[in-house]
Amino acid sequence: MEPHERVAAAASERVEDAVDQISDDLVGFASDLVRVRSVLNHEEPAQELVRERLEALDLEVEEIRADEVPGIEDHDEYVERDLSYEDRPNLLATREGADDGPSLLFNGHVDVVPEGDRDAWSFDPFAGTVEDGRLLGRGASDMKGGVAAMIYALEALDRAGIELLGDLSFNTVIEEEYGGSGGTLASVLAGVDADAVVIPEPTGFDSWIANDGVSYFRVTVEGKGAHAAETDAGVNAISKLLPIYHALEGLHDERKTTVHDELFEEWHEHTVSLNLGTLRGGEWVSSVPDEAVLEARISHAPEETREGLRETVERTVERAAEGDPWLQEHPPEIEWFGWRGRSAKIDPDEPIVRTVEAVAETTLDRESHAKGFPGGIDSRFFVNETGTPAVCFGPGAYNIHGTDEYLPVAELEELTLALALTAMSWCGYRVTPDES
Ligand SMILES: [Zn+2]
Repeated sequence: MEPHERVAAAASERVEDAVDQISDDLVGFASDLVRVRSVLNHEEPAQELVRERLEALDLEVEEIRADEVPGIEDHDEYVERDLSYEDRPNLLATREGADDGPSLLFNGHVDVVPEGDRDAWSFDPFAGTVEDGRLLGRGASDMKGGVAAMIYALEALDRAGIELLGDLSFNTVIEEEYGGSGGTLASVLAGVDADAVVIPEPTGFDSWIANDGVSYFRVTVEGKGAHAAETDAGVNAISKLLPIYHALEGLHDERKTTVHDELFEEWHEHTVSLNLGTLRGGEWVSSVPDEAVLEARISHAPEETREGLRETVERTVERAAEGDPWLQEHPPEIEWFGWRGRSAKIDPDEPIVRTVEAVAETTLDRESHAKGFPGGIDSRFFVNETGTPAVCFGPGAYNIHGTDEYLPVAELEELTLALALTAMSWCGYRVTPDES
């Protein structure tokens, strides 16, 4: 069975009709998901809703808990948190294929970022209501709409009498917004896999096939405290830190011109980013500061390595300190701390990428381009751990992570159709004869 075969027009029409018929249920389910405030550590009620839906499709649902995955804490993207995984499972369910066609996995996160200042919203962020053809609320487009669509894609196939020839699996996860280690990383390390993976994150029907890597670092410079009236008796740590700050800006200016990956330059003018995020120094205006600290977030392109970037940053800091007798004796300290995200990239010619793009173009009549996402996306865990081609492909992003998030219902329906046709195209299918 060759993947990405064309779906016959008659079969495609049957699925389209089925999506129309189930639309109310689809929207109702997406609304129910939005009504659950599934921020970090409160994902379970959303997973319960998903479990019910999967069981209604006659699927057996398996739980994967991060604390039961051996060795996960040794993984370099694992983030130690003071949270229990006891009531925070990831879910896995599979509809077995009718033959031995290629397998496909739909993955989606049920967690959302907090709503922020509720008064800034023009509607209740967890109302989950539909107004003017829009499903309103936190998570509507990132990515409860996607989770609803991937499940109702199977509902539509069943209703249309379409049997897939390869396995279709569903993996809904926690913690994506917080690095993904307790969610998709745990799932992948527990053996969740398929011949290809589609994640319906809000990509605007483009295919995201790469993401950059992210590292946080901290530079601490020591000074010597003194009374402000006797500044010459002290060493000002802020003054010593500033040349380092400028050297890092200089490094970034250079990297903007030397590091290029066109997948990322669809987003920004530059492939890589540096954010000098915090700067602290001194405690009192009448004292010479004896310590100054800066913290920064720096990204690296898929063709770079984190180790290489670290060396470059450390060398930049060392060079900036050269020629300063105080800093020679009191070298700046560099720490790499907190979350570290690896980069990933798959070939734009991967059959699963071509499949989703073809579905978007032929069935939805939408343009679809391969892009790289400047940040962490869960597809990297499949790509990096098992070499499985994984692509993000989903609806538009409407005020995600901001106020007044929503998703047009029409896009929810389009995505459901697109995912159903992607599964048919990828896994192969047969139409069961009408019983009438
Ligand atoms: Zn998301």
